[in-house]
Amino acid sequence: MSESLEITVVGAGAVGAAVAQALARQGREVFVIEKNPGVTQGENQSSRNSGVIHAGLYYDSQTRPLKARLCPAGNRLLYEFCERYQVPHLQCGKLVAATRQEELPALELYQARAAANGAPCQLIDADAAREREPLVKALAALWLPTSGVIDPTAYLHQLYALAAGDGAQFLTQTEVIAARPQAEGIQVTLRYRDGAIDEFLTKRLINCAGLYSDEVARLVNPASPHRIDPMRGEAACFYRGKRPELGVGALNIYPTPYQVKLPGGSYWTVGVHLTPTLETTPQGEVKPSPAVTVGPLNFAAAHKEDYGGQHRPMADFRDQVAGFFPQLTEDDLQPYQVGVQARLAGHQDWLLEFDPKAPACLNLLGFDSPALTASLAIAQEVREMISENQ
Ligand SMILES: Cc1cc2nc3c(=O)[nH]c(=O)nc-3n(C[C@H](O)[C@H](O)[C@H](O)COP(=O)(O)OP(=O)(O)OC[C@H]3O[C@@H](n4cnc5c(N)ncnc54)[C@H](O)[C@@H]3O)c2cc1C
Repeated sequence: MSESLEITVVGAGAVGAAVAQALARQGREVFVIEKNPGVTQGENQSSRNSGVIHAGLYYDSQTRPLKARLCPAGNRLLYEFCERYQVPHLQCGKLVAATRQEELPALELYQARAAANGAPCQLIDADAAREREPLVKALAALWLPTSGVIDPTAYLHQLYALAAGDGAQFLTQTEVIAARPQAEGIQVTLRYRDGAIDEFLTKRLINCAGLYSDEVARLVNPASPHRIDPMRGEAACFYRGKRPELGVGALNIYPTPYQVKLPGGSYWTVGVHLTPTLETTPQGEVKPSPAVTVGPLNFAAAHKEDYGGQHRPMADFRDQVAGFFPQLTEDDLQPYQVGVQARLAGHQDWLLEFDPKAPACLNLLGFDSPALTASLAIAQEVREMISENQ
């Protein structure tokens, strides 16, 4: 490895890969260090998520300005990217169902938020909701035509290929274990797969380490106060063809957002939702596969790699969606996947900032949902911040 590199990105998830791609496209020298063997087999957020392309409904510009701005921008960029590079995706739209009178004011609030964020959103009555999805029970609903589903693995592979084509180098099974600020940048220490240790100087370090972004920030600046509270999200699935009553169409179907209590405090969740999975026919047509996911059911994770163990009882998943999809029974469901999300303690929004003591390090902290959707817009933002801060 050369003595001094221009830009080192820690983490090759959707955010790190998109950042690497955007910077390599500018002709910059980019190295990406990833501790997992490869993201698609890896245990990280980008390979274990719901795959929803969010429209930009949930975030208000006062409390979550980055999410409010970068989610709808990322939504547009992601569709363009998927079309251009033939990444499997479906712009299927989404219903947010209100099943109780008390939920109706929330629909109006979220409709106003969507409008403020520039995300197309219509408030529709029960009949119009039934036209979209006859099997869904709702008093009223929001309809978001720009919501969709993506194959996150195919997206990541395309990002890697483009970044590598522009000269970015990816080192997998290699972990950043120390990072010390110097006058000319950051001195990084790596541990390779075989245990060998290496060191190099980088002019810039971009911390896209997801669940470990707090720890990487502390390698650079031990006084960094931020903490990731990992949140375990379990998903189940059912098969549409199993019974006629399960034949929901190819939409994302969400409840009205609600508050959840965790040991660290309460927060608003988008709720347990139905999301189609995708399949590609031999003719290359992307369509919903028979499996529909139900999740994520979120709670505090025991630790950052809390992927194992039993799923919650299937009845818990059924109960979460029973209001808008009462046909689903516990016996229709089976465990599907477990993901762990990087929630930043004490923050509702993402934190994107140069370290105050070591400005050669740009930290991306707590990039939880919808950072898959927003990844290309996040990468543009990072590229601008780096250009302005030469
Ligand atoms: C259950 C669940 C459902 C979700 N659903 C959606 C959704 O529907 N839509 C959406 O937009 N978003 C969704 N998200 C959020 C989305 O998946 C994440 O916001 C996004 O994938 C974050 O990408 P990332 O690159 O920041 O992090 P990650 O994908 O976690 O990547 C970080 C990488 O850094 C590496 N790393 C960490 N420390 C080091 C180190 N010291 N040295 C080298 N490498 C290191 C890790 O191995 C990892 O691969 C969901 C997340 C979860 C968990």
